[in-house]
Formats: sequence, structure tokens, C-alpha cells
Amino acid sequence: MNKIAGNGKNTIILGGGLTGLSAGYALTKAGQNVRVYEGDSSVGGLSKTIVKDGFRFDLGGHRFFTTNKVIENFVGTLMNGELVSVPRKSKIYMRSKFFDYPLTPLNAIFGLGIPMTLKIMSDYGLGKVKNLINEKVDISLEDWVVRNFGRKMFNLYFREYSEKVWGIECSRISAEWVEKRIRGLSLSKAVKNAFFKFSGRDIPTLADRFLYPQLGIGRISERLQEEIERYNNVLTDTRVERVDHSENEITSITVKNHRYSDIVYGSEFVSSIPLPNLIRLLSPSPPDHIIDVASRLKFRDLIIVAVMINRERVTDQSWIYIPEKKIPFGRIHEPTNWSAAMAPTGKTLMVMEFFSFKYDETWNKSDEKLSELTVKHLQRLGFINKKEVLGSLVVRAPRAYPLFEVGYESYCNELYSYLSRFRNLYIAGRAGMFKYYNMDHAIESGLGVAEKILKSDSYHLSAISPK
Ligand SMILES: Cc1cc2nc3c(=O)[nH]c(=O)nc-3n(C[C@H](O)[C@H](O)[C@H](O)COP(=O)(O)OP(=O)(O)OC[C@H]3O[C@@H](n4cnc5c(N)ncnc54)[C@H](O)[C@@H]3O)c2cc1C
Repeated sequence: MNKIAGNGKNTIILGGGLTGLSAGYALTKAGQNVRVYEGDSSVGGLSKTIVKDGFRFDLGGHRFFTTNKVIENFVGTLMNGELVSVPRKSKIYMRSKFFDYPLTPLNAIFGLGIPMTLKIMSDYGLGKVKNLINEKVDISLEDWVVRNFGRKMFNLYFREYSEKVWGIECSRISAEWVEKRIRGLSLSKAVKNAFFKFSGRDIPTLADRFLYPQLGIGRISERLQEEIERYNNVLTDTRVERVDHSENEITSITVKNHRYSDIVYGSEFVSSIPLPNLIRLLSPSPPDHIIDVASRLKFRDLIIVAVMINRERVTDQSWIYIPEKKIPFGRIHEPTNWSAAMAPTGKTLMVMEFFSFKYDETWNKSDEKLSELTVKHLQRLGFINKKEVLGSLVVRAPRAYPLFEVGYESYCNELYSYLSRFRNLYIAGRAGMFKYYNMDHAIESGLGVAEKILKSDSYHLSAISPK
């Protein structure tokens, strides 16, 4: 990377996930002084890769896919030959059967039977007619799905999986979010695809190939860290504990690690830490009603259980979706199907995602109990024999998903508006903005704030590419 002389700005970045690192990278490249503070022992946030005894896994399989050419080129150049192209192959397990994902009409009809398929189709048609007569505003995910797919389809496919993922009733999940981010609601695309479109080619999220770093998604963050550290610092294991402000400017942050506590001054501050946390860290504290609004924004947490297996491969799938609540995890992936380098030769691993709320019964189970439960279900599903298990590892990922409850947008807007008074504060990223960002959006968001900071130097995003 070539470092270009900067304008003497001194930017402090809160959070070393993809957003914070991308901002740090672009500012470093532009010759700025940057310090990134990350509370965890390693960078990457949700997009990190855990390594144990030669086995590697992401916090839920992370595929890199974007329709934004600038971001695609940025990551391609940064990763310089580390990316592999992976075929996307997924299944859904329901009613004791595996269905193709995206669903195909024949597969769906075989799985559901002709009478059920006809019921779905007629219910859908009836719904369409009703919608023409009665124009209703959708408030919740339930309203939206019933209007677009019919009640039968909602009950059959959507209700259980959505409630498993989000942990609240579909009538409390915001329709606004579903409508905006429908590309994220992958199950819906699959279902609509199967019954009403008969082709998945027009759906970007169902693209049949994606990019993946050979050694796991965490390599993207590691590469960004390496580049930043050529000139600047990324401080891991260092939490931001307070954000001081005066006269509508952030003046400093207080950081703490296991050795010391320090006050750090800067001219600009980029926050990619969760939006409600930033509000709580402000000193002096914001007015009570702002604190109250922040407390209304909640997250869904995630537990990852990786099971190492003494076999070369268990499936040939990228993801397997498990909507039924009687099985405690919601999604499985086998990292060796993404890159053979994710496990020692001749061995594999399966990685299960448990959607949970911090401190609920699942979150509180011991690692041993979670591993036991996982292995029991994997065996029941016919994937493995307990004797093949070499070991397991449980990782808890708090605040994995912003919880888009009805009304969340107005809370976010109120917080954005409050924070906009701070002339030198930039908020960005998934939890930082409380948005359903994928990795490409997180990178774009980080590069975007860097561009804003550099504006006075007339640098442009398109000019920022790794060398
Ligand atoms: C299960 C799952 C699967 C996903 N799959 C995909 C996928 O296939 N493709 C895709 O594109 N995207 C996927 N995503 C989304 C992707 O993970 C995110 O978009 C991206 O990682 C967000 O990056 P970020 O930097 O904005 O946030 P984060 O990764 O949350 O980073 C924020 C960082 O701030 C740190 N932090 C928080 N508080 C403090 C503090 N007080 N002091 C210091 N540091 C702090 C955190 O430790 C964290 O490292 C998935 C997400 C999940 C949960």
C-alpha cells in the first residue's frame, strides 16, 4: 500500500470489525493517523474465523457476494489470490425430509404432496384477489408474508423459521424491514421461486457461486489489519469504556485493557460499536428519553457449536436450514465444502447456529451440554455417528442480529438525529447503524465514512484500492 501524505487528522476508530477496519484502511492509505480500538482479542467482529487444532470455522458460514463492483474489486485486490470460487448448494430440512434450496417445483410437490401444493396455490390466488379489494398497510412480517404468499405458506414455511431466528412472534417483526431487505429473507425467495417464478436466476441472493478466502472469512479482516499496521495501530483486547464530549464535539475516549486504562484524544471519531452502547458510553450522558430510546433497540444473539469429525466429508452442502423448533439449531454449515483448507486432511467439521437471547436458557447451558445436545441431534438427523466426534468448540456471539421490531426505525432516526450534533462523530456498520448489513455493506460503510473524513482532501472512494 502506498501511503500518501494526509492533512494531519487524527482519527480514532471504535470497533475492529470489517467496518472499522475498512475505514482505518482507507484513512491509513490516505496518510492519516489512525488508531483502531477493538474489545476482543482479535479483529473481525462477526466476520472472524476461529481456529482450533487445525480446524477453522466462521461464526456461521460467511460468503462474500456483492453486486457493487467497487467493493468486489477492493476485496479481490486486497486478498490477492486468496479467494476461491465456491458453488452454492443448500437444503432445507423439514417434515423429516431434505428439500432443495432454492426449492424447485418438482421437489416441493414431491415433498409436500399434490393436495397441499394445490391448497398453497389456491390460497395464494385467493389472497391476491383479496388484496385487490382490500388495500391494507403491512405493519409486521406476518402481514407482509400473508399478503405476498398466502396464509397457508406463512404457516407452513415462514412462521417457524422466522420465529426461530428472531425469537419473537412474526406479528412483532417489522414489515418495513422485510420489504427493504427482502433479499436477506432467503427462505421467502426460495419458496416464491419454487411456486411462482420457476427460475432462480433473477434473484441475486440465490447466485450459484460465491467468493471465499481459502483460510476462512476472517482473513479479510486480518489483511486489513496488516495493511493498517504498516503505518498505524490496531489495539485489540482494548475496550472503549467512555466517550467524552463537550460543546457538540467528541473530545476523547477512555479505553481499558487488562494492563491499563487510558484517555485517548483525537480529531475525528468513527464508531462501529453497537448504537445503543455508544449512547450509553457518552459522557455527559444524553437526556433520559434518548437513553430510553436506545434501550428499546435489542439484538438477537448467536451461539455457534462446531463439531470436529473424523471423516473426510459429511455432506456436499454449503448451508442446511433447519426451520423446525424441535431441533435446537437453525442452520448448519460444513466449512470444508467452502474450502478444503478449513480442516486437517481427512477430517471435517460441522458448524451449528443456535439463535438465542443472551441469558436465556440456551445461552446459559454449559458448553458441554450444548455440545452433547448438538451431537445427539446430528446423529438423529443421520449425519454422524457419535464415535466419529473428535471434539467440539462453543463460541458465543452477542449482538449478532439487530432485532427489527415494529417501530425500530423511528427509534434509530431519533438516535441518529441526536448524534448528528457531534461534528466530529461518524457512525457506521451493522450494529453501529442498527442495520441489516452484510459484509459488503459493512466495508462500503467503513470506506464511506473514511471518504467523508477525507473530503476536505478531495480523495474519492473509487481511488481507494489496495496496492
Ligand atoms: C450468523 C451470521 C452469518 C452471516 N453471514 C454473512 C454472509 O454470508 N455474507 C455476508 O456478507 N455477511 C454475513 N453476515 C453479516 C456480517 O457478519 C456483518 O455484516 C459484518 O461482519 C459487520 O461488520 P461490522 O464491523 O459492521 O460489525 P461487527 O462485526 O459487529 O464489529 C463491531 C466490532 O466492535 C467491537 N466492539 C463492540 N463494543 C466495543 C467496545 N466497547 N470497545 C471496543 N470494541 C468494541 C466488537 O468486538 C466488534 O469486533 C453474517 C452475520 C451473521 C451474524
